[in-house]
Amino acid sequence: MSKTSRRVVFGVLLIVTLVVSAGGALGYLGRLTLVFDRQPGKPIAIVEEVPGPPDGPPCPIDARYFDEKPEGLRPEVLQAWLSLRAKAAEQGVQLCLNDGKRSRGQQQAEFDEAVEKFGSAELASKYVLNPPDRSMHVIGFAVDVQPIESAKWVEKNGGTLGWCRRYENEQWHFEYHAGYATGGCPALVPSATGG
Ligand SMILES: [Zn+2]
Repeated sequence: MSKTSRRVVFGVLLIVTLVVSAGGALGYLGRLTLVFDRQPGKPIAIVEEVPGPPDGPPCPIDARYFDEKPEGLRPEVLQAWLSLRAKAAEQGVQLCLNDGKRSRGQQQAEFDEAVEKFGSAELASKYVLNPPDRSMHVIGFAVDVQPIESAKWVEKNGGTLGWCRRYENEQWHFEYHAGYATGGCPALVPSATGG
């Protein structure tokens, strides 16, 4: 190898090293500021810190429930939610988003409330997922639809748009997965807490 080509190789290596470390540094900063990873469908830790609205205006067809803004959901989930809602509206059905995105802190607060209500962490964990990271609401894939008649519509018609009911004990809870639209909904399991 000539002196010049050796110099060129060294130069190229130096540039590669600089680019890789700059990318690494930016990637790290990106993790602190960006909500979603640039790799599609891959959540990063920070998404769990994104809160959803704690409540919202009352559901116009049943004031016992909220109709939250769909804030904090992952972008593809938000799109899918809007499509679901539009399809329902076409058929004269109104869907209220009683609860959508929660942050880890919001999920933890729900758990703490449940501990107070039921008297023990063991009982509370039958109703509210803990640790909070396990909740599909925390990672931005789940919505709770009310009133129950509207939830029933979603159970019947949401599958082709990727929305499936997952739990026997939560008629209102739906999770989005693009694969459900093509592969169909998975079988129901007893509850999110596995019991
Ligand atoms: Zn839910």
